[in-house]
Amino acid sequence: MLLITCPVCAVTAEETEFSCGGLHVQPGETRRYARGVVREYWLCAAGCGSWFGLARHSVNQRILGSWTMGKEPPLFPGETA
Ligand SMILES: [Zn+2]
Repeated sequence: MLLITCPVCAVTAEETEFSCGGLHVQPGETRRYARGVVREYWLCAAGCGSWFGLARHSVNQRILGSWTMGKEPPLFPGETA
């Protein structure tokens, strides 16, 4: 079970209180689910209703960070540009 914190309203809840919208991709970028760092869109269904980006490791499920929509996502540890 993932414990997610919304970067917009700061509510922290289990992943079932959020809704995953799939992989986060930049224009012109092709990404697939793979071993390693994945970036996804998540909806803060339990809180403010905002979409945000979240990076997690697909093997150990560790959450590496999140960012608000409209901002450039940072490069996370283990991720290549
Ligand atoms: Zn929120």
